[in-house]
Amino acid sequence: MYGHLKEADPAVYAIMRRELARQREGAELIPSENLVSLPVLEALGSVFTNKYSEGYPKKRYYGGNEFIDQSEELAIERAKQLFGAEHVNVQPLSGSPANMAAYFALMERGDKLMGLKLDHGGHLTHGHPVNFSGKYYTIVPYEVDPTTERLNYDAIEALAMKERPKVLLAGFTAYPRDIDYKRFREIADRCGAYLMADISHTAGLIAGKQLMNPVPYCDVVTTTTHKTLRGPRGAMILCRQQHAQAIDKAVFPGLQGGPHENVIAAKAVAFAEALKPEFQAYAKQVIANAKALGEALTARGVRLVTGGTDTHLLLADVRPFRITGKAAESALDKAGIYVNKNTIPYDPEKPFVTSGIRMGTPTLTTRGMKEGEMKVLGGLIVDVLENAENGERLKGIREQVLALCKRFPIYSEIQLS
Ligand SMILES: *Cc1c(COP(=O)(O)O)cnc(C)c1O
Repeated sequence: MYGHLKEADPAVYAIMRRELARQREGAELIPSENLVSLPVLEALGSVFTNKYSEGYPKKRYYGGNEFIDQSEELAIERAKQLFGAEHVNVQPLSGSPANMAAYFALMERGDKLMGLKLDHGGHLTHGHPVNFSGKYYTIVPYEVDPTTERLNYDAIEALAMKERPKVLLAGFTAYPRDIDYKRFREIADRCGAYLMADISHTAGLIAGKQLMNPVPYCDVVTTTTHKTLRGPRGAMILCRQQHAQAIDKAVFPGLQGGPHENVIAAKAVAFAEALKPEFQAYAKQVIANAKALGEALTARGVRLVTGGTDTHLLLADVRPFRITGKAAESALDKAGIYVNKNTIPYDPEKPFVTSGIRMGTPTLTTRGMKEGEMKVLGGLIVDVLENAENGERLKGIREQVLALCKRFPIYSEIQLS
């Protein structure tokens, strides 16, 4: 693999080699990341990238799409089976454009969108003022409960009844608990809103049957394919038949041009992997690992937002260590532990500083790590938080992280030299 690249473009090859080494040698705890399989990687790097195929299977604006159609239809069929969806569009290039297309399909400019605030665990595309969603729509932000730090469905209902949004959005990027989509549906029905879920983070745990599936309750569900679902970087939209035409039109020609058919082929491959029983075991282990990591952190004085997790994700308040989220991220980086700084609910710090870090277990679980390794890693994380200014100590922890990672090799079939 990659011999041609090495010869033709040694500069890009050398950078790629260093990135592979970084992935091998570090503890990747960013909850929105994962490691794709070699079959997914092969489909991504395939001749499907050469083709223009604007339109949809059997309704294309270009000739020569016989096999592209077969591949895209396979991706759609597998996604439908995975989530029990009536209709699926696999063309969205990423999570943000998928949300944009869903809004285009369900709302007019200026309509009310009710979503969780970014600094409480929502996503930029859920109505933040710097994002198109906050500029094009009238935003009704909801918050988590100040005491429990969890969703308060009664408060959400009261706000929804007062504001009557066109779209009620159940979507989360830094919220560690499972979601009651049935309750969200009741609220949407009562206030006359469309219910949309954005399951970008938890799609793999839902496909792996460990968390509640929102598809039966929602008008539209968007998700990325590259997070817990362990597919290529991209997204898809699942919806009820009644919205099928509007969704497809919003994606193309509403928003995008030619779909990335190499990515769509890779999505098909990843969906087939997720349909296997082993994937359910994977999803289960992801959650078990997150709980084990959470317990190890809590035992050493870390405060977890909501007190723990039901998912792959942990949000830690690092103020007990007299350190900001930004400083924690940077110190952990030096120790080869990758996390991201993140606001916690009602965070007194600015979004670029924050009081928290966000962690998740999808990548390390893909590597084969289990509860025992999470316990070790939890201890190392706290060692870093306690010694964030001590360069020598961080170097020592880096060695321990490296030794741990070496026991769980990745991509051993790929040799870059
Ligand atoms: C990651 C994420 C997105 C955006 O996905 P991109 O592929 O980065 O555009 C949207 N919504 C949620 C909830 C996410 O977690």
